[in-house]
Amino acid sequence: MRPFASTISLEEARRRLREAVRPIERTERVRIEEAANRVAAADITSPIDVPPFSRSAMDGYAVVAADTVSASRSTPARLRLLDRIYTGQPSSATIEPGTCAEIATGAPLPAGADAVVMVEETGRNDGTDRIDVFAPATAGQHIGRRGGDISAGDRIIAAGDFLSPARTGAIAAIGRRDVEVFAMPRVAVLSTGNEVIEPGSTLAPGQIFDVNRFTLGAVIGEHGGVAEPHRAAQDTVHALIAALDACATADLIVFSGGSSVGERDLVVDAIAARGEMVFHGIAVRPGKPTAFATIRASNGSTPFFGMPGNPTSCLSNAYILLVPFLRALARLPPHKPHTVSAPLGRRIASAFNRHQFYTVRLQDGVAFPAFKGSGDITSLSQADGYIEIPADQSVVEEGASVTVTLF
Ligand code: AMP
Ligand code: MG
Repeated sequence: MRPFASTISLEEARRRLREAVRPIERTERVRIEEAANRVAAADITSPIDVPPFSRSAMDGYAVVAADTVSASRSTPARLRLLDRIYTGQPSSATIEPGTCAEIATGAPLPAGADAVVMVEETGRNDGTDRIDVFAPATAGQHIGRRGGDISAGDRIIAAGDFLSPARTGAIAAIGRRDVEVFAMPRVAVLSTGNEVIEPGSTLAPGQIFDVNRFTLGAVIGEHGGVAEPHRAAQDTVHALIAALDACATADLIVFSGGSSVGERDLVVDAIAARGEMVFHGIAVRPGKPTAFATIRASNGSTPFFGMPGNPTSCLSNAYILLVPFLRALARLPPHKPHTVSAPLGRRIASAFNRHQFYTVRLQDGVAFPAFKGSGDITSLSQADGYIEIPADQSVVEEGASVTVTLF
């Protein structure tokens, strides 16, 4: 055994991670259908006005507003119908005083017209070409002006903007087919441990199925990374160094297991051979044996997370430490998980001097402890969220109001 010389606080670990992150520089071009949830790598200015022509915002009649000044139900303005204008079919008619054109929503406004009257405020005189307007129209009414949404030359997207569905819509509206975005970080994911085998095979005595590669892969995929799975590595320094080398071209490397203090926890030795340790051991529970390092690579260095092997510790620290780091690497905005307040259903004793993340299940608005053990994946899979118990607090009483961060 080689016990932790010391642990650092959660705050200090977060600070060192913020300091270490180098947001990705690589860019690529994607079609707009792939652009949602990506991050724009360049400003986009519009080459056109949107809408590209002035158009009706209602089904009704294009009129000269001045003709309708004193219109009412009892004294309608009577106008002569010149044309019917549908979308995609500009009219050659000019609306002179005393005339109008039927117009559909989205159809180009004809020359001369300066307002649209809703069909509900008009009447037809059957068998004639006369239209009665029952209410005065103001100039500009129910018209979407050319360039009213976006003017040619407007910047619609800035470099670094997160591309929400609405922003992909703005890119489409100006006629662009593709967009320059930052590449999604490639994240090598690898489990360590002689006992760890692939799900789908048959367990030999002493073996377990790999859990962490899948929980880590799923979290990475949800937060802007592309998980690149590697085969599990054996617990020898040689195998771990070879595994690090196999992952060296990734933007981020995430190992699980082997980062604790046992004889066979050799990730620390592999890091010593290939890079620099930034921290090893955090005063949190679960997840104390978490390491962060930089690994030497041909193009500088690659950040490395050594996550605990215990599945709940691994996933908990993936949420708490890996997600913020990965999102910053991917240039995504920080994740804002939802929280709810609830009374605690049962008293919890916490490890003193360690910041504890305690999973809970919500039942009828009450938060019940769901944490079984760091090695039990159901500590998380059967929980709705977690509460945090600071390092200087050792007990949370039943009935106390707690803030639950939801998964
Ligand atoms: P370690 O951090 O390597 O000392 O592992 C701690 C515990 O987590 C041991 O019981 C391991 O068998 C278990 N473990 C390690 N890696 C995994 C994994 N990828 N999936 C599930 N359990 C694991
Ligand atoms: Mg192990």
